[in-house]
Amino acid sequence: MSNQHALQQLRQQLQQQLQDEVQAISDIAESAQASADTVTLDQTRMGRLSRMDAMQGQAMAQATNARRSARLVAIQAALTRMQHGNYGDCQECGEQIAWARLQVNAAVSLCIHCAEQSPTA
Ligand SMILES: [Zn+2]
Repeated sequence: MSNQHALQQLRQQLQQQLQDEVQAISDIAESAQASADTVTLDQTRMGRLSRMDAMQGQAMAQATNARRSARLVAIQAALTRMQHGNYGDCQECGEQIAWARLQVNAAVSLCIHCAEQSPTA
Protein backbone atom coordinates (compact mmCIF):
# COMPACT_ATOMS: atom_id res chain seq x y z
CA MET A 1 0.00 0.00 0.00
CA SER A 2 1.51 3.34 -1.04
CA ASN A 3 1.59 6.22 1.40
CA GLN A 4 -0.63 8.25 -0.92
CA HIS A 5 -3.27 5.55 -0.85
CA ALA A 6 -2.94 5.15 2.90
CA LEU A 7 -3.31 8.91 3.34
CA GLN A 8 -6.50 8.89 1.29
CA GLN A 9 -7.93 6.12 3.44
CA LEU A 10 -7.01 7.96 6.63
CA ARG A 11 -8.60 11.14 5.32
CA GLN A 12 -11.87 9.30 4.65
CA GLN A 13 -11.64 7.67 8.07
CA LEU A 14 -11.13 11.06 9.73
CA GLN A 15 -14.00 12.69 7.88
CA GLN A 16 -16.27 9.83 8.94
CA GLN A 17 -15.09 10.14 12.56
CA LEU A 18 -15.66 13.86 12.43
CA GLN A 19 -19.27 13.35 11.32
CA ASP A 20 -19.83 10.71 13.99
CA GLU A 21 -18.37 12.91 16.73
CA VAL A 22 -20.41 15.95 15.68
CA GLN A 23 -23.54 13.79 15.78
CA ALA A 24 -22.62 12.32 19.18
CA ILE A 25 -21.95 15.77 20.61
CA SER A 26 -25.29 17.14 19.53
CA ASP A 27 -27.03 14.04 20.98
CA ILE A 28 -25.23 14.53 24.29
CA ALA A 29 -25.94 18.26 24.33
CA GLU A 30 -29.65 17.44 24.00
CA SER A 31 -29.69 14.84 26.76
CA ALA A 32 -27.58 17.07 29.03
CA GLN A 33 -30.09 19.83 28.48
CA ALA A 34 -32.91 17.40 29.26
CA SER A 35 -31.33 16.28 32.54
CA ALA A 36 -30.55 19.90 33.44
CA ASP A 37 -34.26 20.67 33.01
CA THR A 38 -35.17 17.66 35.16
CA VAL A 39 -32.98 18.88 38.00
CA THR A 40 -34.54 22.33 37.91
CA LEU A 41 -38.18 21.30 37.49
CA ASP A 42 -38.34 18.35 39.88
CA GLN A 43 -36.34 19.88 42.69
CA THR A 44 -39.29 20.19 45.07
CA ARG A 45 -40.63 16.67 44.42
CA MET A 46 -37.39 14.73 44.27
CA GLY A 47 -35.65 13.40 47.32
CA ARG A 48 -32.22 14.71 48.17
CA LEU A 49 -30.46 11.54 47.01
CA SER A 50 -32.13 11.30 43.62
CA ARG A 51 -31.45 14.98 43.07
CA MET A 52 -27.78 14.32 43.76
CA ASP A 53 -27.91 11.39 41.33
CA ALA A 54 -29.34 13.61 38.66
CA MET A 55 -26.70 16.26 39.26
CA GLN A 56 -23.97 13.64 39.16
CA GLY A 57 -25.32 12.34 35.85
CA GLN A 58 -25.31 15.87 34.57
CA ALA A 59 -21.68 16.39 35.60
CA MET A 60 -20.70 13.13 33.90
CA ALA A 61 -22.49 14.16 30.72
CA GLN A 62 -20.59 17.44 30.80
CA ALA A 63 -17.27 15.63 31.26
CA THR A 64 -18.04 13.32 28.34
CA ASN A 65 -19.01 16.33 26.30
CA ALA A 66 -15.71 18.05 27.10
CA ARG A 67 -13.77 14.94 26.05
CA ARG A 68 -15.74 14.75 22.81
CA SER A 69 -15.14 18.42 22.10
CA ALA A 70 -11.40 17.90 22.57
CA ARG A 71 -11.57 14.93 20.20
CA LEU A 72 -13.44 17.03 17.66
CA VAL A 73 -10.75 19.72 17.79
CA ALA A 74 -8.05 17.06 17.29
CA ILE A 75 -9.84 15.60 14.25
CA GLN A 76 -10.39 19.03 12.72
CA ALA A 77 -6.73 19.89 13.27
CA ALA A 78 -5.70 16.64 11.56
CA LEU A 79 -7.92 17.42 8.56
CA THR A 80 -6.41 20.92 8.38
CA ARG A 81 -2.91 19.41 8.40
CA MET A 82 -3.99 17.16 5.50
CA GLN A 83 -5.06 20.24 3.54
CA HIS A 84 -1.75 21.94 4.27
CA GLY A 85 0.23 18.84 3.33
CA ASN A 86 1.93 18.45 6.69
CA TYR A 87 -0.30 15.66 7.97
CA GLY A 88 1.63 12.91 9.73
CA ASP A 89 4.36 15.25 10.95
CA CYS A 90 4.84 15.33 14.71
CA GLN A 91 3.67 18.74 15.97
CA GLU A 92 6.40 18.70 18.59
CA CYS A 93 9.60 17.51 16.91
CA GLY A 94 8.57 17.49 13.21
CA GLU A 95 9.45 13.83 12.65
CA GLN A 96 7.16 11.62 10.56
CA ILE A 97 4.64 9.82 12.79
CA ALA A 98 4.60 6.05 12.17
CA TRP A 99 1.78 4.96 9.83
CA ALA A 100 0.80 2.19 12.20
CA ARG A 101 0.23 4.84 14.87
CA LEU A 102 -1.85 7.02 12.54
CA GLN A 103 -3.95 4.04 11.53
CA VAL A 104 -4.83 3.37 15.16
CA ASN A 105 -5.72 7.01 15.80
CA ALA A 106 -5.77 9.13 12.66
CA ALA A 107 -6.15 12.35 14.66
CA VAL A 108 -2.94 11.84 16.62
CA SER A 109 -0.61 14.86 16.38
CA LEU A 110 2.53 13.66 18.16
CA CYS A 111 5.03 10.90 17.40
CA ILE A 112 5.30 8.07 19.91
CA HIS A 113 8.36 9.61 21.58
CA CYS A 114 6.80 13.04 22.10
CA ALA A 115 3.47 11.50 23.18
CA GLU A 116 5.27 9.59 25.92
CA GLN A 117 6.68 12.87 27.24
CA SER A 118 3.30 14.58 27.14
CA PRO A 119 0.58 12.96 29.29
CA THR A 120 -2.17 15.13 27.77
CA ALA A 121 -1.59 14.07 24.14
ZN1 LIG B 1 7.82 14.00 18.05
